[in-house]
Amino acid sequence: MNRPSSAVDLPPEAFRELGHRLIDRIADFYASLSARPVTSPDAAENIRAFLGDAPLPESGESAGDALERAAQFLFDSSLHNGHPRFMGYITSSAMPLGALADLLAASINPNVGAWDLAPAATEIERQSVRWLAELIGYPADCGGLMVSGGNMANMVGFFAARKAKAAWPIRSQGLYGGPRPLTLYASRETHTWVQKAADLAGLGTERIRWIETDAEQRMRVDSLEARIDEDRGRGCHPFLVVAAAGTVATGAVDPLPQIAAVTRRHDLWLHVDGAYGAPAASLPEAPEALHALGEADSVALDPHKWLYCPLEAGCTLVRDAGALPDAFSFHPDYYRFDSTEEEPRINYYEHGLQNSRGFRALKVWLALSCVGRSAYVERFRADIALARRLYRAAEMHPELEACTHGLSITTFRYRPPGLDDGADSEAYLNRLNEALVAQLQREGRVFVSNAVVGGRYVLRACIVNFRTRNADIDALADSAVCGGRVLHRQLG
Ligand SMILES: *Cc1c(COP(=O)(O)O)cnc(C)c1O
Repeated sequence: MNRPSSAVDLPPEAFRELGHRLIDRIADFYASLSARPVTSPDAAENIRAFLGDAPLPESGESAGDALERAAQFLFDSSLHNGHPRFMGYITSSAMPLGALADLLAASINPNVGAWDLAPAATEIERQSVRWLAELIGYPADCGGLMVSGGNMANMVGFFAARKAKAAWPIRSQGLYGGPRPLTLYASRETHTWVQKAADLAGLGTERIRWIETDAEQRMRVDSLEARIDEDRGRGCHPFLVVAAAGTVATGAVDPLPQIAAVTRRHDLWLHVDGAYGAPAASLPEAPEALHALGEADSVALDPHKWLYCPLEAGCTLVRDAGALPDAFSFHPDYYRFDSTEEEPRINYYEHGLQNSRGFRALKVWLALSCVGRSAYVERFRADIALARRLYRAAEMHPELEACTHGLSITTFRYRPPGLDDGADSEAYLNRLNEALVAQLQREGRVFVSNAVVGGRYVLRACIVNFRTRNADIDALADSAVCGGRVLHRQLG
């Protein structure tokens, strides 16, 4: 029987031709990136016009035409986080090598759920995990795995902690098996993954004790310890402290050595959220506290942030390699995989939430192989220097107010001359700066996001972008001043 021909099974010659054409288009896109707007002001309209509300196609169109149309559409209607003037959120410029790595990974398409299904890919993942540990100063004999991003990486650490520190068989009995409610501690600056985790694990978000921060947005260790003592006295079961190695809003690093001393004293699990900031631990001049990452029981980090890998790539590291199978492993009848003492074979489906797993590790492994530690260190340093330049520019300019600088994140705001210091002025400045962020994002010449620091609504630039240069930083400061003046005339 002849099988019907369709795009399902592109003949190798057709694949070669389409692939070469697409790679040419992508190379042109990279070359044109800095001349494009960061985002098109008409993006929403273009998207509606392109997609319409067409029903599911009954028969397929030519793959060449569809690829061409999709590429053009995406180049024209996306928010380009690879643009030199994209400094919003914590989304990095992705290295072009990562696009090639993803193409290769999808071509082999190994299922990295078990060693037998993906021997080469499993070992590449294992080596990537170890290299990431080495980069950030974590014990190289740790366990760990690749996940989709920071949220999942943190959740894996959370579930490892829950299993390790519950004093009863929580995996079979659940929370109902324990006499006292599991309780965890995190600073107010913690990313919302912690609410999702407490919710989904059945603890409820009220089991999170929000610990106050100091003037630099770092967890206050005295408050932490007082709260743990108080909870113990009230019959709670403290099990986990979440500390930040680079908070999402301002890049603050919690006092990790002091927090580690508290968790040791009270036999709690220390999880460090380094989704953004952990790579900076490779810098000798990094904040002292970052050099204590090795004391954590688990660490989350995001290669798709500061390591410039394309989305999605997160990673959890755990000091005790057995902690992940302890927390996640079941043995279904349909999986029989051998592993011996001499030749231990990791089956990653036992180490996390996923069963079938893609080959995320390849882009991370290739990035670490081809960039190497010292070039990465230089990149982190350059990003931090750009954030510092922005902070200084804001300090120097009479109409800008520098607010914070932590790692490669700077926050600042526009402040029109002649405003007094009262509460009315603060409320007005918040409105003005909120409008300014929205306007800058709409215009598409530079892209920043916002933070709220001590009640102040501020512009926030996070530089995890190897394409950003001094001139781009200066353009951001200029745009903030010009946009701020215009808005002040309209609102003031
Ligand atoms: C980005 C970030 C997260 C969430 O990571 P995703 O990759 O977006 O899921 C969590 N914590 C911190 C500190 C982050 O910067």
